[in-house]
Amino acid sequence: MTSEKKSAGTVGFIGIGTMGREMALNLAKAGFRVAVHDVRPEAAQALAGGGIRAATSIADAARGADVVITMLPDTPDVEAVVYGEAGLLANPPEGRLIVDMSTIAPDAVRRMHADCAKAGVAFIDAPVSGGPVGAKNAALSIMAGGDAAAFEKARPFFAGMGTTITHVGESGAGQTVKLCNQLICGINIQAICEALALGRANGVDLHQLRKVLLGGSAASWMLDKLGPQMIDGDASAGFRIDLMLKDLRLVQQQAQASNVPLPATALVTTQYLDARAHGEGSNGNQALFRVYDRMSGQERG
Ligand code: NAD
Repeated sequence: MTSEKKSAGTVGFIGIGTMGREMALNLAKAGFRVAVHDVRPEAAQALAGGGIRAATSIADAARGADVVITMLPDTPDVEAVVYGEAGLLANPPEGRLIVDMSTIAPDAVRRMHADCAKAGVAFIDAPVSGGPVGAKNAALSIMAGGDAAAFEKARPFFAGMGTTITHVGESGAGQTVKLCNQLICGINIQAICEALALGRANGVDLHQLRKVLLGGSAASWMLDKLGPQMIDGDASAGFRIDLMLKDLRLVQQQAQASNVPLPATALVTTQYLDARAHGEGSNGNQALFRVYDRMSGQERG
């Protein structure tokens, strides 16, 4: 054996967007052969070369693969790729393992897990946290649900994309943990917006405020990573407002189904809706601060 990398295996990767692009590149860097597919063929073609092949269809991406990984926007997208006429159930990967890393509804995940099991295919839900920077640095936190043996089969592939890799339980448990993560992120962004609005109205230098807070008990990933963009009015996308609204919808659906009141989630959802109504859907989550700009008469150009 000349190199451990050579024996690593083959991955079909479907969904070459903000996150998927970086994750597929890291899998190739880790030594896997990767076949990438996207409904936007140009996204797949742009990655071709250096261990990555642009696949022409879902079936082409799955052909000869040990695992197919999906990284798609929402539940119907993953269902279309799994159940579609030319989808993964009709064209399972050779290794009979599907790993969905998108953030989608836990009940849909459990349904796909059961339907795949009937066809002798393992299905793991493995959503991620860490954003585009975590994806680029292969430093994602990966929270996986599903059968333990299938998780172990997926583990080497996870190691090419993330640093914190945890099997959190049965099918759907990965998504439940991710939804807990998302409600904390949304409410944390809201708390930061409120602190910045109060500091600004009282003449405090906001960059200094952020620095001080990062050294104490109010420190957070959001304050660290999104704070500068909030303060500078840079709304450029990373994690889009639209995707957070999708996640907050999933949180609330699961909360209702399990009779858990989440009042803070409900409130922050109305503010995200306000942001989207003002044309911010494609902007990054830091654009929530513009809701506070408006509410406090501090709109910037
Ligand atoms: P994205 O919209 O940038 O990428 C999704 C990609 O999927 C696009 O390239 C799109 O063309 C492709 N696609 C859609 N339907 C398809 C289909 N049927 N077949 C093939 N390709 C299809 O989204 P993203 O930001 O990369 O997020 C992907 C998932 O990861 C979402 O569920 C999101 O909530 C989650 N997530 C995102 C972030 C982030 O910071 N962006 C962080 C953690 C988790």
